[in-house]
Amino acid sequence: MRDVLVIGGGPIGSYLASRLAGIGLDVLVLEKRAGLGNKVCCAGIISQECLDSFALGNGLVLRRGNSARVFPPSGRPVGLWREKTQACIIDRAALDLVMADRARAAGADYALSSPVKDIQPGEDRVTAEIETGGRRQNLEARVAVIATGFDSRLAERAGLGKPGDFVIGAQAEVEIGDIPEVEVYLGRETAPGFFAWLVPTSPSRGLAGLLARRKPGIYLERLLSSLRSQGKIGLAEAEPGYRGISLRPLERTYARRVLVVGDAAGQVKPTTGGGIYFGLLAAEIAVQKLKRALEQDDLSASSLAGYEKEWKKRLGKELGVGYWARKLYERLSDRQLDRIFEIAVDNGIIEALLEDKDLSFDWHGKAILRVVRQKALVSILGMMKVPFQFGR
Ligand SMILES: Cc1cc2nc3c(=O)[nH]c(=O)nc-3n(C[C@H](O)[C@H](O)[C@H](O)COP(=O)(O)OP(=O)(O)OC[C@H]3O[C@@H](n4cnc5c(N)ncnc54)[C@H](O)[C@@H]3O)c2cc1C
Repeated sequence: MRDVLVIGGGPIGSYLASRLAGIGLDVLVLEKRAGLGNKVCCAGIISQECLDSFALGNGLVLRRGNSARVFPPSGRPVGLWREKTQACIIDRAALDLVMADRARAAGADYALSSPVKDIQPGEDRVTAEIETGGRRQNLEARVAVIATGFDSRLAERAGLGKPGDFVIGAQAEVEIGDIPEVEVYLGRETAPGFFAWLVPTSPSRGLAGLLARRKPGIYLERLLSSLRSQGKIGLAEAEPGYRGISLRPLERTYARRVLVVGDAAGQVKPTTGGGIYFGLLAAEIAVQKLKRALEQDDLSASSLAGYEKEWKKRLGKELGVGYWARKLYERLSDRQLDRIFEIAVDNGIIEALLEDKDLSFDWHGKAILRVVRQKALVSILGMMKVPFQFGR
C-alpha cells in the first residue's frame, strides 16, 4: 500500500508530491489527462515573492513587469508603476512539467490517463477508484490528497461540501502588436463585476481573457473583437480555454485520511482569481501536517484538522477581506467606477497606494481596508460596514 495518493497532477499536486516523496514517502500521483501541462487555462502571472519562496526558477519567466495600464469604463487609462518588479509572467504549461519533473526526481510515481471517480476513506486506508481503458480499478494508500483544481466533486463525495462561490475564466492566446505592459479593462460591457486582461507573453504573442459569472464565451468574443479593432491583437492562435475558479473556500478541507489543497480547496485570491501562490503556501502546510500524522500513524480527522487551522491562520483574513471587497466591487455601476478612478487620481490615492508597503501583488487585505476608509471615497462606496480588523 502506498503512503500517499495525490489526486491531480497540476502545479499544487505535483509540488506536494515532490515534497512528500522528498522526505522518503511512497507517493503516487493520479492525473486524469494523458499529458501533464495539457490544456492549461491560466495567465501565469505570479509575484517575485512566489517565484523566490518556491524556487520556481527564472527559466520559467517569460517577462517581468513593474507597471500596468488600467482602463476604467470611461476608457481613459490610468498608469500604475512601482519601482520594483511586481509580477512575473511565467510559462504556465512549463510550470506543470517542471513541478512534475521535480516530483519524479524525488521519487514520486505518476499514473496518467487515470481519472479518479471516487474515494472512500476507511478505518486503516483510503481507497481511490480509477478508470483506465474503460476498466475500473481500486488503489489504496494511507492518505489521499485531493488536488483536482476547480473540479471538487471528490471533495464533495468525501463529505467536505462545495466551494461557496465561483466564476468562470475564459482566455485565448493571441498575436499582439506593440503592447509593452499588462492591460486591464473594467466595466459592465467588458466583464461585469470582474475584469479583463491583455498580457504580453512575448513581443508578438499574448493572452487575452476575462472573468465572468455568466456567458464568458460571449464576453470573450466581444473582448477579442474590440482589441482587434483597436489594432492591439491579431488572430487568436488556438481555441479559447474556459475554467472555473473558486472564490470561496470549501466548507471543510480535511476528513479522515483525506486533505484538499489548491483550487479544489478554494485557496484562491477572490480579488483576482490567482491561485498558484496561495495553493503552494497551503500545500507546504499540508506537507508539514501529513509528515507528522504519518509518522504518528494518526490520520484521523482530528489529527488532520490542524492543516485547516494553520492554512486559515495564514490566508484566512486575506481571503475574507478579498471576498468582501469583491462583493463591494461587483455592486458598483460603471459611473461609480469611473468616479472612483477620477477621485483616486485627483486625490493622490492611487499614488499613495502604490507607495504603500502593505500592498503587494499577493497581499491586498490591509491596502483594501485603507482605501475603502478614504473619506473621499466613502460617499461613493456607500458605507458598508468594514467587518475586519487586520493585523497580519
Ligand atoms: C483564465 C484563468 C487565468 C488564471 N490566471 C492566473 C494567474 O495569472 N495567476 C495565478 O496565480 N492563478 C491564475 N489562475 C488560477 C490558476 O490557474 C490556479 O490557481 C492553479 O491552476 C491551481 O492549481 P491546482 O494544481 O490546484 O489545479 P489545476 O491546475 O487545475 O490542476 C488540477 C489537476 O487535477 C487533474 N484532475 C482533475 N480532476 C481529476 C480527477 N478526478 N482525477 C485525476 N486528476 C484530476 C486535472 O486534470 C489537473 O491536471 C487562472 C485561472 C484561470 C481560469
